Amino acid sequence: MADFIHLLPDHVANQIAAGEVVQRPASVVKELLENAVDAGATEIKLIVKDGGKALIQVVDDGSGMSETDARMSFERHATSKIRNAEDLFQLHTKGFRGEALASIAAIAHVDMQTRPADEEVGTHIRIEGSKVISQEAEVCPQGTSISVKNLFFNIPARRNFLKSNAVEFRHITDEFHRVALAHPGIGFQFYHNGSELFHLDATSLRKRITAIFGHRMDEKLVPVEEETQVVEIKGFICKPEYAKKSRGEQFFFVNDRFIKSPYLHHAVVSAFEGLLKPEVHPGYFLYLQVDPNSIDINIHPTKTEVKFDDEHTLYAILRAAVKHGLGQFHLAPMLDFEKDQNLETPYAYRNKEAEAPGISVDRGFNPFKESSARISYPGSYQKKSADGWENLFIDLESGSQKQDSFSSVHFESEVVTGSIFPESENDEASEATTFQLRRKYIVTTIRSGMLIIDQQRAHQRVLYEKFLRSMTVSESLSQQLLFPVTLQFSPNERHILAELSDHLQALGFVFEDTEDDELAVKGLPPTVPEKEIASVLDGLISGYKEGNEENLSQSDMLAKALCSAVSVKTGDRMDRVSQLALVNDLFACKESMLSPFNKPIFITLTENEIDNKFK
Ligand code: ADP
Ligand code: MG
Repeated sequence: MADFIHLLPDHVANQIAAGEVVQRPASVVKELLENAVDAGATEIKLIVKDGGKALIQVVDDGSGMSETDARMSFERHATSKIRNAEDLFQLHTKGFRGEALASIAAIAHVDMQTRPADEEVGTHIRIEGSKVISQEAEVCPQGTSISVKNLFFNIPARRNFLKSNAVEFRHITDEFHRVALAHPGIGFQFYHNGSELFHLDATSLRKRITAIFGHRMDEKLVPVEEETQVVEIKGFICKPEYAKKSRGEQFFFVNDRFIKSPYLHHAVVSAFEGLLKPEVHPGYFLYLQVDPNSIDINIHPTKTEVKFDDEHTLYAILRAAVKHGLGQFHLAPMLDFEKDQNLETPYAYRNKEAEAPGISVDRGFNPFKESSARISYPGSYQKKSADGWENLFIDLESGSQKQDSFSSVHFESEVVTGSIFPESENDEASEATTFQLRRKYIVTTIRSGMLIIDQQRAHQRVLYEKFLRSMTVSESLSQQLLFPVTLQFSPNERHILAELSDHLQALGFVFEDTEDDELAVKGLPPTVPEKEIASVLDGLISGYKEGNEENLSQSDMLAKALCSAVSVKTGDRMDRVSQLALVNDLFACKESMLSPFNKPIFITLTENEIDNKFK
């Protein structure tokens, strides 16, 4: 039989390896920045064009490489960082696999200039798809400059798979943030398409965080510090009231390496228990130092996952440290007699108004007539009769019952015609009975039986179609604010809002740029309540990030994000008028069966089905 097995040529093997290390431009950025950090640089410059598709360049003032090393660095498994497998357990550098440069050179045009301090002349190497095009001696500054152009030029399938420049750029920014946060002692600059986005001087951790996320971040930070035999923890958490709908600012670093860890994340979130609104995420910047011996960072090619020897202990220590940090911050303001109310009350009870004691007077009470001896005590708390048969109906919150002031929603239909309720007098449905079930469903009668509508999904559908319409015909109204609301965004978030500004204007938002990282909102779409602006825009930004990943059209994305941000939610009480309005609006929609997120909006229960249940 003939032999079939043969060894792959190096350049093919490199291309395959590249697939693991380099998924997108941001992966190149990560590897190059980490190499510069490993080389002991004090200043690192990142230059990017067109979301990294056209150019990624990293310039450092680190150790540089000799002529031989410069050539060697592009070989697979070429590394100066480990010599044998044991070294893996004493690792203090970012790299060790010796794969990054070989992989990048296999799938791009690479140009490198490098010079160590003790040499006069440096080396200039050009490589395209693993082939060395030229190598010559050249005068250049100490350190290394590597530029990577035309990423995936020889793998069209991967190139086509890349997302828009804006999305790729955002991934690059994320990587940049991670490396810059891990190394506040190094200065960083970041340019995109010729403009300087970040100029970060070497500084303290706290200042690095505020330099990246805006100076207002400073007031949000609470320090966390804990030293034990197993781990040393330092860093910051954000005060609970600044928790956001987007998961943006959550960072773990283990031995100065950014990592993802759902397990440790859980430890942090659980320490915030009772202090967060539902559906928001706390921000944190937490730095763990552990014995390199006690972790394995080898398990993931991009090295963002770490395996700890003793996860459980780490979990407990981290949770306690965060709790302690929160407690400290809780105590501190008391000294200046400004207690933070938000920390006093568990979230579920906050914003709930105290119930006024009710007084009931029996007007027909005649003290001289013994038979009507129903005495009520003026001034005492009059309990709403909740013990009798009425208990059975406690969840049938129809509009006729007393309203809480808590999360009740009222709006009116915009649809004038097209009521689904028949007008005919003797039709029982003309009474248009609706009621709310468990603050979740609107139940209503139709000719053939009944309809159970998911209030949140229904409202999302109504708003979604409305927003799409406003964006296409630009007919929407804007409600001018008497006092503009100033909000604060990180450069990244402002970037997203700028991308969306045309559509946002069409919807009725009016923005005005102010100094630094602030944005003044001067007008709003009438559907967005003023006190919700911050949370709506926050939800919009996070929804947009997710939608972008799925390559939706911008207007679709925005309509989806906005409708989920402002819709009635499960748990909101709706009065009778709003219930009716919602039902009418829903059936005036182009599509009333499915929510914008493709979930069913209502179910029907026919008379037959009900009859069957009684058999
Ligand atoms: P690794 O970082 O895993 O060792 P790389 O392929 O990223 O593998 O780099 C290979 C080697 O090239 C490194 O071990 C290092 O010696 C050298 N090198 C890479 N980038 C730089 C740089 N910016 N400055 C100095 N040396 C570098
Ligand atoms: Mg490396």
